[in-house]
Amino acid sequence: MKENKLDLNSGWEFAPAPESTAHIQLKKKYDLFIGGKWVKPKSGKYFKTVNPSNEEVLAEVAEANEKDVDLAVKAARKAYNEVWSKLSGKERGKYIYRIARLIQERAREFAVIESLDGGKPIRESRDVDVPLAAAHFFYYAGWADKLEYAFPNRKPKSLGVAAQITPWNFPMLMVAWKIAPALAAGNTVVLKPAETTPLTALKLAELIQDAGLPDGVVNIVTGYGQTGAMMVEHPDIDKVAFTGSTGVGKIIMKAIAGTSKKSTMELGGKAANIIFEDAPLDQAVEGVINGIFFNQGHVCCAGSRLFIQESVYDVVMRKLKDRMSNLVVGDPLDKNTDVGAINSKKQLDIINNYIKVGKDEGAEFYQPTCSTPKKGYWCKPTLFTNVAQSSRLAQEEIFGPVLAIQTFRTVDEVIAKANNTPYGLSAGVWSDKGSKVFNLTSKLKAGVVWANTYNKFDPTSPFGGYKESGHGREGGVQGLEPYVKFN
Ligand code: NAD
Repeated sequence: MKENKLDLNSGWEFAPAPESTAHIQLKKKYDLFIGGKWVKPKSGKYFKTVNPSNEEVLAEVAEANEKDVDLAVKAARKAYNEVWSKLSGKERGKYIYRIARLIQERAREFAVIESLDGGKPIRESRDVDVPLAAAHFFYYAGWADKLEYAFPNRKPKSLGVAAQITPWNFPMLMVAWKIAPALAAGNTVVLKPAETTPLTALKLAELIQDAGLPDGVVNIVTGYGQTGAMMVEHPDIDKVAFTGSTGVGKIIMKAIAGTSKKSTMELGGKAANIIFEDAPLDQAVEGVINGIFFNQGHVCCAGSRLFIQESVYDVVMRKLKDRMSNLVVGDPLDKNTDVGAINSKKQLDIINNYIKVGKDEGAEFYQPTCSTPKKGYWCKPTLFTNVAQSSRLAQEEIFGPVLAIQTFRTVDEVIAKANNTPYGLSAGVWSDKGSKVFNLTSKLKAGVVWANTYNKFDPTSPFGGYKESGHGREGGVQGLEPYVKFN
């Protein structure tokens, strides 16, 4: 086969194309959003949220203590008893549609704030996070008056008050995944965003006020892990919906064991991306790049392990390195940026430690020669080859732009290797043969398996994990089930 001779290392560059921040409105200080109002924290404490690309403080945010959490749960219970549980599905749906439409109207502002607070490229927040968040509200608005059709002959009833806790990697989208199905099914919520990326959730609170949602139906409290723990342990919570690390997921499961609280756990992952010799290789390489580098590897379903069939190893590696050398690393607000800033100093330290572990274990390390900004938290796209199956690089979630590469010869071998981690969230298969793809999708222990594509999301598709990647599904009609009961 003749090879494409285009010189990808010829060094051409794009002119900077930064997105404007002139249109965004951020307050200097955010209180707690409880009972439809902005309330000063009883704790009297605030913490700073910083822009990880330049370390500048964006705003101060309230730190909720036990009393604050209690007020939020009381507000949610009151709204549930007096208003929300009494509204018809059709009326609930109207409010949820209104939220969806308002997100669309203010999409640009939300996208810029998401990139400022989280460090992710504006291309991602503009084209993926914010449109998908709106799409989830639209989708679940449609279900609000059709619950009997979602669960035929089962008479679904709402649960009551849901405590919802989200991570920092998809702040706005995770909030949408949680709030939209909860409201559609007739519940009220207390939500806590991650401490390093609280701003889009707080902006959503402003939007919820504008949408005229009855007071107390959505309450947003901010704080660190302790605030989350207080929500989980509050006796008047009916359901815990958590997205975050497996370690914290286990703590939460212990805390609610023996109670009647329902739970959904969306936890970590260590996805295998598998390239067979008959795959469309250029497409596969682009999928691998998208799967691990475009969001700095800050994706639970990131394709952080790559398995290449031995016969195409050399050509795939060359294409991969060529493509890596052309990735634009830098200002998250620049529309050309592929790889933005690492979300926090803490996360950068974790990633750098794994890079050291990989080198110490004897794996071969590669980074392209690109430069990174002086201020802020940055990690160049990184890959390791010669990675042993037992290596920590192949077994543990790094949550950064670090790819661990292994080879394989047979289908059975790659299935065994791919399934050999404690996780089971997602996987990718690249092959021209439908029969091979279907064989793998049925044998890979992963909640989602993408074929000849990667990281594709849609509100109608359920998402969730096997094994230590959690339980319960978000998205699709399956995403309603954790918010209803049948007796
Ligand atoms: P994290 O577990 O550290 O924190 C997640 C949230 O939990 C934060 O809001 C945090 O304040 C809160 N929290 C911390 N300790 C708590 C406690 N004891 N009780 C209650 N709440 C507590 O995770 P993170 O670093 O923010 O996010 C990264 C992790 O999230 C990764 O492991 C990633 O794979 C996972 N994730 C999973 C999915 C999915 O759908 N499966 C999606 C996105 C992220």
